[in-house]
Amino acid sequence: MVNVEKNYVHRIEDFQFMEGIFDLCRVFRDRGFLLVIVTNQAGIARGFYTLAQFESLSAWMRRRFSEEGLELSGIYHCPHHPSITGDCPCRKPHPGMLLQAASDLDLDLPHSVLLGDKPSDLEAGRRAGLSRLGLVHGHTSLESVRYGAHGNLPLSDFAELISRLGPDQV
Ligand SMILES: [Zn+2]
Repeated sequence: MVNVEKNYVHRIEDFQFMEGIFDLCRVFRDRGFLLVIVTNQAGIARGFYTLAQFESLSAWMRRRFSEEGLELSGIYHCPHHPSITGDCPCRKPHPGMLLQAASDLDLDLPHSVLLGDKPSDLEAGRRAGLSRLGLVHGHTSLESVRYGAHGNLPLSDFAELISRLGPDQV
């Protein structure tokens, strides 16, 4: 949900940030959340791009966040694909990347919020013990978030919900 969905994006020139992503991240940062990206990168297993290419894209992404005044505490990726490398514990909907991030960064998973644009993202969250799960809608801009009992909220309402409530109440 950080970038606009295109097939196996690995080049900076093809990478387009979702409109609204930085503002949304600022809302969470201001409430004391750490920002972590967890991403399936089966294009590595498929040989579409190399780990080195993904790492250089990640470094660029960190710089872009930093130019926006935001620090990414971690970028976790799964380089596997079940039909090529076999099953792995990290590919979402498996919770491996979230559990690794929690261990590395001492995250409080039950009080963390996971946002994703696919049901498998949310399933990974569920399996990692999170209950605050948001399914994001939008093609080139973040438009709305389906967030548990709150239903489908326009992005501005979701941002307000997060900013109104403390990290323990969200
Ligand atoms: Zn994996």
